[in-house]
Amino acid sequence: MAFTLTGDDAIQELQPSPIPEPYWVAFSSSVAKALKIPLNNDGYPQDQTWLNVLAGNSLETQSQKFSNPISTVYSGHQFGVWAGQLGDGRAILLGDIADQELQLKGAGKTRYSRMGDGRAVLRSSIREFLCSEAMHALGIPSSRALSIVGSKLPVLRETLETAAVCARIAPSFIRVGHFEHFASIQNIVRLKELADLLIEQHYPECRNIKDLYIDLFQKICARNAKLVAQWQAIGFCHGVLNSDNISALGLTIDYGPFGFLDQFQMDHICNHSDQGGRYAYHRQPQIMHWNMACLASAFIPLLELDHSEEEAQKLLTDALGEFPAIYGQAWQTLFRQKLGLSTVQDDDIQLIERLLQVMHDSRVDFTTLFRDLANVNTSKPISAIKLRNDFLDRDAIDQWLADYIDRLKAESSLDADRRQKMNAVNPKYILRNHLAQAAIEMAQRQDFSEIAKLLTILERPFDEQEQYQEYAAPPPPDLESIEVSCSS
Ligand code: AMP
Ligand code: MG
Repeated sequence: MAFTLTGDDAIQELQPSPIPEPYWVAFSSSVAKALKIPLNNDGYPQDQTWLNVLAGNSLETQSQKFSNPISTVYSGHQFGVWAGQLGDGRAILLGDIADQELQLKGAGKTRYSRMGDGRAVLRSSIREFLCSEAMHALGIPSSRALSIVGSKLPVLRETLETAAVCARIAPSFIRVGHFEHFASIQNIVRLKELADLLIEQHYPECRNIKDLYIDLFQKICARNAKLVAQWQAIGFCHGVLNSDNISALGLTIDYGPFGFLDQFQMDHICNHSDQGGRYAYHRQPQIMHWNMACLASAFIPLLELDHSEEEAQKLLTDALGEFPAIYGQAWQTLFRQKLGLSTVQDDDIQLIERLLQVMHDSRVDFTTLFRDLANVNTSKPISAIKLRNDFLDRDAIDQWLADYIDRLKAESSLDADRRQKMNAVNPKYILRNHLAQAAIEMAQRQDFSEIAKLLTILERPFDEQEQYQEYAAPPPPDLESIEVSCSS
């Protein structure tokens, strides 16, 4: 529910800046249904005033008035360096609807826009819209996207593009950066209000605990540790894991230059601007831990309300120290599920890591490989297993498959049963960059059909969907390395 802090520079009350001649680019009827917005047969709102509201041109639908839109202040660390005050530079919170915050991204300048124009371009809005819905369908906690509204309003990036407004929802958009902001200006009153608000609205289980702030900290850390394990297991790279892009609810937020892995490369960097690879795939867990350390620093004054400085530091350091184990446990559970293992054995980690290493060495497609692994027939010879042909080093994969089959036999795994369970966790369809890119290029020619089609496919990522087989395929060689950067 909405951020309620007022006073100081905590929020700015403001109206979105209108865009000329708004039109629908994309709309998620499934999000709309969750928000109880009545829809017509085409899956768009019956009440057409929603278009103007989601464009940022009006604050009133026939049934709802958003009377108090705001932007909030946050600070943060970008690429490992304290960057001071950052946002909300282009997001305006309209208000609450069905227990969700409804936020318009790209709705114009705010007090916190710094040098920015407050806008988002069509291309990045399409990527955020599709990816948030894809992640939700994959069972990964995420903000969700209701709509994209387009306009001819020109926006200058590397080239001249057009503006779009993406409406997104989450139970709360509170970030690590919000805590860092109030800690950095030593406004302990606001810091405490923020923590209390989070507990009251989103972590009610902390309410009756004596040491509630350390409990809150532990719970935020645990959620984010489990979140990053889910990213690793699905092959998702966030791209910009700055502390201002980390949710206090453990949600995936702020989709920018993200990427799903195609060919598996442990040190894959999806963000073209990330030259040092700080946010590479294999570093994400460690970086999330680092972001939790930023949160720990911001929590010190809260802990000092009830503890000495030394005690506060120790409590936070100990809690932070639990992150790797929580992450590791979640990672192992997820990868066991991916391999269809139903028991826990000592050398499972080794088995999983060996597979990842041979996949890395052969640059095998991450999603296809795990999906194909479900078809392993434990009673046939290894030479008959098709997926071995995807590996350059046949000996290595053959040896791994032999050990895997032994491991399955040791727990009397049944092929059909295991296949069903594995297909429920290893998706067939992910938002590959080349698919998003094709939808973007069509949208730039005013054809939005591919966005709607991708949404339909990605809403059921684990289903076979016979008519859409080509959407499961890895990119053709000329589309393997589409570059995505921070400019959006
Ligand atoms: P990001 O890298 O997208 O997470 O953005 C970092 C910060 O810059 C956030 O506070 C954004 O609100 C802000 N920002 C990004 N793009 C713009 C823009 N075009 N206009 C104003 N603020 C922006
Ligand atoms: Mg951001």
